[in-house]
Amino acid sequence: MRFSDTPGQEVLKDSLRRLADNDTVPHAILLSGAEGTGKMMLARAFAQYLHCRRPVGGEPCGECPDCRMHAELSHPDLHFVYPIVKREKEKIATSADILPLWQQMLVEHPEMPSEQWLEIINAGNSQPSIYVNEADSIVQADSYPPFTSTRKIFIIWRPERMQTAAANKLLKVIEEPMQGTVFILVSDNELQLLPTIYSRTQRFHVGSIENAELTEWLIHNRGLSEDEARRIASIAGGNLINASRLASHSGETEEFRLQYMEIMRQAYKKGAAALKKIADRLGDSKGGYGREKLRRFLLYMGRMARENYLYNLGVGSLVAMTREEEEFASRFAPFIHSGNVEELVKETDRARIDIERNANAKLVLFDFFILLIILIHKKRG
Ligand SMILES: [Zn+2]
Repeated sequence: MRFSDTPGQEVLKDSLRRLADNDTVPHAILLSGAEGTGKMMLARAFAQYLHCRRPVGGEPCGECPDCRMHAELSHPDLHFVYPIVKREKEKIATSADILPLWQQMLVEHPEMPSEQWLEIINAGNSQPSIYVNEADSIVQADSYPPFTSTRKIFIIWRPERMQTAAANKLLKVIEEPMQGTVFILVSDNELQLLPTIYSRTQRFHVGSIENAELTEWLIHNRGLSEDEARRIASIAGGNLINASRLASHSGETEEFRLQYMEIMRQAYKKGAAALKKIADRLGDSKGGYGREKLRRFLLYMGRMARENYLYNLGVGSLVAMTREEEEFASRFAPFIHSGNVEELVKETDRARIDIERNANAKLVLFDFFILLIILIHKKRG
Protein backbone atom coordinates (compact mmCIF):
# COMPACT_ATOMS: atom_id res chain seq x y z
CA MET A 1 0.00 0.00 0.00
CA ARG A 2 1.34 3.43 -0.94
CA PHE A 3 0.31 6.80 0.43
CA SER A 4 -0.88 7.71 -3.06
CA ASP A 5 -3.40 4.85 -2.93
CA THR A 6 -5.49 7.07 -0.61
CA PRO A 7 -6.97 10.35 -1.87
CA GLY A 8 -6.17 13.66 -0.18
CA GLN A 9 -4.95 13.87 3.45
CA GLU A 10 -1.71 15.47 2.21
CA VAL A 11 -0.88 17.27 5.48
CA LEU A 12 -1.33 14.09 7.48
CA LYS A 13 0.69 12.03 5.00
CA ASP A 14 3.54 14.53 5.33
CA SER A 15 3.39 14.39 9.14
CA LEU A 16 3.63 10.60 9.04
CA ARG A 17 6.50 10.67 6.56
CA ARG A 18 8.35 13.16 8.77
CA LEU A 19 8.00 10.92 11.82
CA ALA A 20 9.56 8.06 9.87
CA ASP A 21 12.24 10.12 8.12
CA ASN A 22 13.36 11.81 11.35
CA ASP A 23 13.13 8.58 13.30
CA THR A 24 10.75 10.17 15.82
CA VAL A 25 7.93 7.61 15.56
CA PRO A 26 6.03 7.44 18.87
CA HIS A 27 5.14 4.09 20.50
CA ALA A 28 1.48 4.54 19.84
CA ILE A 29 -0.28 6.50 17.13
CA LEU A 30 -4.03 7.01 16.86
CA LEU A 31 -5.54 7.69 13.45
CA SER A 32 -9.11 8.68 14.09
CA GLY A 33 -11.86 9.96 11.86
CA ALA A 34 -15.19 8.98 10.35
CA GLU A 35 -15.66 5.77 8.41
CA GLY A 36 -14.68 6.20 4.76
CA THR A 37 -11.74 8.56 5.25
CA GLY A 38 -9.14 5.99 4.22
CA LYS A 39 -7.57 5.59 7.68
CA MET A 40 -6.68 1.93 7.35
CA MET A 41 -5.12 2.48 3.93
CA LEU A 42 -3.01 5.28 5.45
CA ALA A 43 -2.03 3.08 8.38
CA ARG A 44 -0.96 0.32 5.99
CA ALA A 45 1.00 2.74 3.79
CA PHE A 46 2.72 4.14 6.88
CA ALA A 47 3.60 0.66 8.17
CA GLN A 48 5.02 -0.31 4.78
CA TYR A 49 6.95 2.97 4.62
CA LEU A 50 8.45 2.19 8.03
CA HIS A 51 9.44 -1.32 6.94
CA CYS A 52 10.64 -0.44 3.43
CA ARG A 53 14.42 -0.72 2.95
CA ARG A 54 14.71 2.06 0.38
CA PRO A 55 11.75 4.43 0.28
CA VAL A 56 11.70 6.76 -2.72
CA GLY A 57 9.98 10.12 -3.08
CA GLY A 58 8.05 9.79 0.16
CA GLU A 59 6.64 6.38 -0.77
CA PRO A 60 7.65 2.78 -0.01
CA CYS A 61 9.65 1.43 -2.97
CA GLY A 62 7.27 -1.46 -3.68
CA GLU A 63 10.14 -3.73 -4.68
CA CYS A 64 12.26 -4.63 -1.66
CA PRO A 65 11.53 -7.90 0.18
CA ASP A 66 9.69 -6.04 2.98
CA CYS A 67 7.45 -4.21 0.50
CA ARG A 68 6.69 -7.51 -1.24
CA MET A 69 5.70 -9.13 2.02
CA HIS A 70 3.45 -6.17 2.76
CA ALA A 71 1.80 -6.58 -0.62
CA GLU A 72 1.21 -10.27 0.12
CA LEU A 73 -0.05 -9.47 3.64
CA SER A 74 2.60 -11.82 4.98
CA HIS A 75 5.13 -9.54 6.67
CA PRO A 76 6.18 -11.31 9.89
CA ASP A 77 6.65 -8.00 11.73
CA LEU A 78 3.23 -6.62 10.83
CA HIS A 79 0.42 -7.75 13.11
CA PHE A 80 -3.23 -6.91 12.67
CA VAL A 81 -5.65 -6.86 15.56
CA TYR A 82 -9.38 -6.47 14.90
CA PRO A 83 -12.75 -7.11 16.53
CA ILE A 84 -14.00 -10.66 16.23
CA VAL A 85 -16.93 -12.73 17.45
CA LYS A 86 -15.68 -15.47 19.77
CA ARG A 87 -16.83 -18.97 18.89
CA GLU A 88 -15.71 -21.72 21.18
CA LYS A 89 -16.94 -24.58 19.01
CA GLU A 90 -15.00 -23.33 16.00
CA LYS A 91 -11.99 -22.46 18.16
CA ILE A 92 -12.16 -18.77 17.30
CA ALA A 93 -10.62 -16.84 20.19
CA THR A 94 -8.27 -14.25 18.71
CA SER A 95 -7.77 -12.26 15.49
CA ALA A 96 -5.20 -14.79 14.27
CA ASP A 97 -7.85 -17.52 14.23
CA ILE A 98 -9.71 -15.82 11.39
CA LEU A 99 -6.74 -14.38 9.53
CA PRO A 100 -7.92 -15.58 6.07
CA LEU A 101 -11.19 -13.65 6.52
CA TRP A 102 -9.26 -10.56 7.52
CA GLN A 103 -7.00 -10.89 4.47
CA GLN A 104 -10.09 -11.21 2.30
CA MET A 105 -11.42 -7.97 3.84
CA LEU A 106 -8.16 -6.08 3.24
CA VAL A 107 -7.97 -7.24 -0.37
CA GLU A 108 -11.62 -6.83 -1.34
CA HIS A 109 -12.57 -3.83 0.81
CA PRO A 110 -9.41 -1.87 1.66
CA GLU A 111 -11.57 1.16 2.55
CA MET A 112 -12.87 -0.92 5.48
CA PRO A 113 -16.65 -0.55 5.65
CA SER A 114 -17.54 -1.95 9.09
CA GLU A 115 -20.79 -3.49 7.88
CA GLN A 116 -18.81 -5.52 5.33
CA TRP A 117 -16.66 -6.95 8.12
CA LEU A 118 -19.79 -8.00 10.02
CA GLU A 119 -20.93 -9.80 6.90
CA ILE A 120 -17.59 -11.51 6.21
CA ILE A 121 -17.31 -12.86 9.75
CA ASN A 122 -20.99 -13.72 9.75
CA ALA A 123 -21.51 -11.75 12.98
CA GLY A 124 -25.30 -12.02 12.96
CA ASN A 125 -26.56 -10.12 15.97
CA SER A 126 -23.30 -10.36 17.90
CA GLN A 127 -21.17 -7.29 18.47
CA PRO A 128 -17.54 -8.06 17.63
CA SER A 129 -15.00 -7.16 20.32
CA ILE A 130 -11.30 -7.23 21.05
CA TYR A 131 -11.09 -9.63 23.96
CA VAL A 132 -8.65 -10.05 26.80
CA ASN A 133 -6.93 -13.10 25.29
CA GLU A 134 -6.13 -10.93 22.29
CA ALA A 135 -4.23 -8.66 24.66
CA ASP A 136 -2.30 -11.67 25.96
CA SER A 137 -1.19 -12.62 22.47
CA ILE A 138 -0.16 -9.01 21.73
CA VAL A 139 1.95 -8.90 24.89
CA GLN A 140 3.52 -12.19 23.92
CA ALA A 141 4.20 -11.16 20.30
CA ASP A 142 5.78 -7.92 21.52
CA SER A 143 8.21 -9.86 23.71
CA TYR A 144 10.01 -11.37 20.68
CA PRO A 145 12.43 -9.28 18.65
CA PRO A 146 11.37 -8.41 15.09
CA PHE A 147 12.16 -10.98 12.38
CA THR A 148 13.28 -9.14 9.26
CA SER A 149 13.27 -5.48 10.21
CA THR A 150 14.00 -3.18 13.12
CA ARG A 151 10.36 -2.54 13.83
CA LYS A 152 7.46 -4.64 14.90
CA ILE A 153 4.18 -2.96 13.97
CA PHE A 154 0.74 -3.67 15.40
CA ILE A 155 -2.20 -2.16 13.54
CA ILE A 156 -5.26 -2.26 15.77
CA TRP A 157 -8.46 -1.68 13.81
CA ARG A 158 -11.39 -0.22 15.77
CA PRO A 159 -9.68 -0.13 19.20
CA GLU A 160 -12.94 1.33 20.51
CA ARG A 161 -14.26 -2.25 20.42
CA MET A 162 -11.66 -3.30 23.02
CA GLN A 163 -12.97 -4.69 26.27
CA THR A 164 -11.77 -2.96 29.43
CA ALA A 165 -9.87 -6.02 30.66
CA ALA A 166 -8.02 -6.21 27.34
CA ALA A 167 -7.19 -2.52 27.47
CA ASN A 168 -5.87 -2.81 31.00
CA LYS A 169 -3.53 -5.59 29.95
CA LEU A 170 -2.23 -3.53 27.07
CA LEU A 171 -1.51 -0.33 28.98
CA LYS A 172 2.01 -1.32 29.88
CA VAL A 173 3.11 -2.51 26.40
CA ILE A 174 1.56 0.52 24.76
CA GLU A 175 3.45 2.80 27.12
CA GLU A 176 6.72 0.86 27.17
CA PRO A 177 6.82 -1.60 24.31
CA MET A 178 9.95 -3.45 23.25
CA GLN A 179 12.36 -1.24 21.38
CA GLY A 180 11.15 -0.54 17.85
CA THR A 181 7.55 -1.62 18.41
CA VAL A 182 4.89 0.73 17.07
CA PHE A 183 1.15 0.53 17.73
CA ILE A 184 -1.07 2.15 15.12
CA LEU A 185 -4.66 2.45 16.32
CA VAL A 186 -7.27 3.07 13.62
CA SER A 187 -10.51 4.30 15.14
CA ASP A 188 -13.88 5.31 13.68
CA ASN A 189 -14.85 6.92 16.94
CA GLU A 190 -12.17 8.09 19.33
CA LEU A 191 -14.80 9.21 21.84
CA GLN A 192 -15.57 5.55 22.51
CA LEU A 193 -11.94 4.73 23.12
CA LEU A 194 -11.03 3.95 26.72
CA PRO A 195 -9.38 7.08 28.16
CA THR A 196 -6.43 5.10 29.51
CA ILE A 197 -5.55 3.95 25.99
CA TYR A 198 -6.43 7.25 24.34
CA SER A 199 -4.12 9.24 26.60
CA ARG A 200 -1.17 7.02 25.71
CA THR A 201 -1.33 7.74 21.99
CA GLN A 202 -0.21 10.53 19.75
CA ARG A 203 -3.38 11.54 17.94
CA PHE A 204 -3.91 12.39 14.29
CA HIS A 205 -7.31 13.41 13.00
CA VAL A 206 -8.27 12.06 9.59
CA GLY A 207 -10.78 14.45 8.02
CA SER A 208 -13.19 13.89 5.16
CA ILE A 209 -11.91 14.03 1.60
CA GLU A 210 -12.44 17.02 -0.71
CA ASN A 211 -14.49 16.44 -3.87
CA ALA A 212 -11.59 17.52 -6.08
CA GLU A 213 -9.24 15.03 -4.37
CA LEU A 214 -11.79 12.26 -4.70
CA THR A 215 -12.26 13.13 -8.38
CA GLU A 216 -8.51 12.92 -9.00
CA TRP A 217 -8.35 9.59 -7.20
CA LEU A 218 -11.25 8.16 -9.21
CA ILE A 219 -9.53 9.19 -12.44
CA HIS A 220 -6.05 7.95 -11.55
CA ASN A 221 -6.72 5.00 -9.25
CA ARG A 222 -10.01 3.73 -10.68
CA GLY A 223 -9.61 4.69 -14.32
CA LEU A 224 -12.85 6.69 -14.65
CA SER A 225 -13.41 9.47 -17.15
CA GLU A 226 -13.26 12.98 -15.75
CA ASP A 227 -17.04 13.49 -16.12
CA GLU A 228 -17.91 10.24 -14.41
CA ALA A 229 -15.32 10.80 -11.67
CA ARG A 230 -16.70 14.25 -10.91
CA ARG A 231 -20.25 12.96 -10.82
CA ILE A 232 -19.38 10.11 -8.47
CA ALA A 233 -17.29 12.34 -6.20
CA SER A 234 -20.25 14.67 -5.83
CA ILE A 235 -22.55 11.84 -4.75
CA ALA A 236 -20.01 10.23 -2.45
CA GLY A 237 -19.97 13.18 -0.03
CA GLY A 238 -16.25 13.00 0.77
CA ASN A 239 -16.56 9.33 1.64
CA LEU A 240 -14.11 6.88 0.12
CA ILE A 241 -16.32 3.85 0.76
CA ASN A 242 -19.22 5.40 -1.16
CA ALA A 243 -16.92 6.55 -3.95
CA SER A 244 -15.33 3.17 -4.35
CA ARG A 245 -18.64 1.34 -4.43
CA LEU A 246 -20.12 3.72 -6.94
CA ALA A 247 -16.98 3.50 -9.09
CA SER A 248 -17.30 -0.28 -9.25
CA HIS A 249 -20.75 0.17 -10.74
CA SER A 250 -20.40 3.34 -12.75
CA GLY A 251 -22.35 1.85 -15.63
CA GLU A 252 -25.52 1.93 -13.54
CA THR A 253 -26.17 5.65 -13.86
CA GLU A 254 -28.41 5.31 -16.91
CA GLU A 255 -30.44 2.47 -15.40
CA PHE A 256 -30.86 4.45 -12.18
CA ARG A 257 -31.91 7.57 -14.06
CA LEU A 258 -34.72 5.76 -15.89
CA GLN A 259 -35.87 4.04 -12.69
CA TYR A 260 -35.78 7.30 -10.75
CA MET A 261 -37.82 9.10 -13.42
CA GLU A 262 -40.44 6.35 -13.39
CA ILE A 263 -40.77 6.49 -9.60
CA MET A 264 -41.07 10.26 -9.59
CA ARG A 265 -43.68 10.25 -12.39
CA GLN A 266 -45.76 7.73 -10.47
CA ALA A 267 -45.38 9.67 -7.23
CA TYR A 268 -46.57 12.79 -9.05
CA LYS A 269 -49.61 10.89 -10.43
CA LYS A 270 -50.25 9.41 -6.96
CA GLY A 271 -49.90 5.99 -8.58
CA ALA A 272 -49.75 3.93 -5.39
CA ALA A 273 -50.49 0.65 -7.17
CA ALA A 274 -47.73 1.20 -9.72
CA LEU A 275 -45.32 2.18 -6.94
CA LYS A 276 -46.20 -0.99 -5.07
CA LYS A 277 -45.24 -2.97 -8.18
CA ILE A 278 -41.93 -1.11 -8.47
CA ALA A 279 -41.16 -1.69 -4.78
CA ASP A 280 -41.91 -5.40 -5.17
CA ARG A 281 -39.76 -5.67 -8.27
CA LEU A 282 -36.73 -3.77 -6.93
CA GLY A 283 -37.00 -5.30 -3.47
CA ASP A 284 -37.44 -8.87 -4.65
CA SER A 285 -34.88 -11.09 -2.97
CA LYS A 286 -34.26 -13.06 -6.17
CA GLY A 287 -34.72 -10.90 -9.28
CA GLY A 288 -34.46 -7.50 -7.56
CA TYR A 289 -31.61 -5.08 -7.02
CA GLY A 290 -30.24 -6.77 -3.88
CA ARG A 291 -29.12 -4.86 -0.81
CA GLU A 292 -25.90 -3.38 -2.21
CA LYS A 293 -27.44 -2.12 -5.43
CA LEU A 294 -30.48 -0.70 -3.62
CA ARG A 295 -28.08 1.16 -1.39
CA ARG A 296 -26.41 2.70 -4.43
CA PHE A 297 -29.78 3.49 -5.99
CA LEU A 298 -30.96 5.30 -2.86
CA LEU A 299 -27.69 7.28 -2.79
CA TYR A 300 -28.51 8.22 -6.37
CA MET A 301 -32.06 9.28 -5.42
CA GLY A 302 -30.74 11.39 -2.54
CA ARG A 303 -28.33 13.12 -4.86
CA MET A 304 -31.09 13.76 -7.42
CA ALA A 305 -33.28 15.37 -4.75
CA ARG A 306 -30.45 17.76 -3.88
CA GLU A 307 -29.53 18.46 -7.51
CA ASN A 308 -33.13 19.11 -8.48
CA TYR A 309 -33.54 21.49 -5.58
CA LEU A 310 -30.43 23.43 -6.64
CA TYR A 311 -31.67 23.42 -10.21
CA ASN A 312 -34.96 24.80 -9.01
CA LEU A 313 -33.13 27.55 -7.14
CA GLY A 314 -31.16 28.25 -10.29
CA VAL A 315 -27.78 27.84 -8.60
CA GLY A 316 -24.61 25.89 -9.36
CA SER A 317 -23.54 22.32 -8.81
CA LEU A 318 -25.11 21.44 -12.15
CA VAL A 319 -21.83 19.88 -13.25
CA ALA A 320 -23.01 16.83 -11.36
CA MET A 321 -25.96 16.18 -13.66
CA THR A 322 -25.80 14.52 -17.04
CA ARG A 323 -27.61 16.17 -19.94
CA GLU A 324 -30.49 13.69 -19.63
CA GLU A 325 -30.79 14.25 -15.88
CA GLU A 326 -30.86 17.97 -16.46
CA GLU A 327 -33.54 17.57 -19.10
CA PHE A 328 -35.75 15.75 -16.60
CA ALA A 329 -34.90 18.30 -13.91
CA SER A 330 -36.11 21.13 -16.16
CA ARG A 331 -39.64 19.72 -15.86
CA PHE A 332 -39.57 18.02 -12.49
CA ALA A 333 -37.44 20.36 -10.36
CA PRO A 334 -40.33 22.74 -9.43
CA PHE A 335 -41.72 19.95 -7.26
CA ILE A 336 -38.63 19.93 -5.06
CA HIS A 337 -38.45 23.13 -3.04
CA SER A 338 -37.69 24.56 0.39
CA GLY A 339 -40.93 23.06 1.75
CA ASN A 340 -39.93 19.45 1.14
CA VAL A 341 -36.27 19.08 0.19
CA GLU A 342 -35.02 18.46 3.71
CA GLU A 343 -37.56 15.76 4.37
CA LEU A 344 -36.97 14.18 0.97
CA VAL A 345 -33.25 13.88 1.63
CA LYS A 346 -33.83 12.67 5.19
CA GLU A 347 -36.35 10.00 4.16
CA THR A 348 -34.10 8.81 1.34
CA ASP A 349 -31.25 8.41 3.82
CA ARG A 350 -33.54 6.64 6.23
CA ALA A 351 -34.68 4.15 3.59
CA ARG A 352 -31.05 3.50 2.67
CA ILE A 353 -30.03 2.91 6.27
CA ASP A 354 -32.99 0.56 6.83
CA ILE A 355 -31.95 -1.43 3.77
CA GLU A 356 -28.36 -1.56 5.03
CA ARG A 357 -29.68 -2.94 8.29
CA ASN A 358 -31.34 -5.75 6.45
CA ALA A 359 -34.94 -4.59 6.84
CA ASN A 360 -37.48 -6.06 4.40
CA ALA A 361 -36.61 -4.22 1.19
CA LYS A 362 -40.08 -4.38 -0.39
CA LEU A 363 -41.71 -2.84 2.70
CA VAL A 364 -39.04 -0.18 3.15
CA LEU A 365 -39.31 0.86 -0.50
CA PHE A 366 -43.10 0.93 -0.55
CA ASP A 367 -43.24 3.04 2.64
CA PHE A 368 -40.66 5.35 1.14
CA PHE A 369 -42.53 5.70 -2.18
CA ILE A 370 -45.79 6.52 -0.39
CA LEU A 371 -43.94 9.23 1.54
CA LEU A 372 -42.68 10.54 -1.80
CA ILE A 373 -46.29 11.01 -2.96
CA ILE A 374 -47.01 13.07 0.14
CA LEU A 375 -43.78 15.03 0.03
CA ILE A 376 -43.79 16.07 -3.62
CA HIS A 377 -47.35 17.33 -3.29
CA LYS A 378 -46.43 19.53 -0.34
CA LYS A 379 -46.78 23.27 -0.75
CA ARG A 380 -43.67 25.41 -0.80
CA GLY A 381 -42.46 26.43 2.65
ZN1 LIG B 1 10.44 -1.21 -0.16
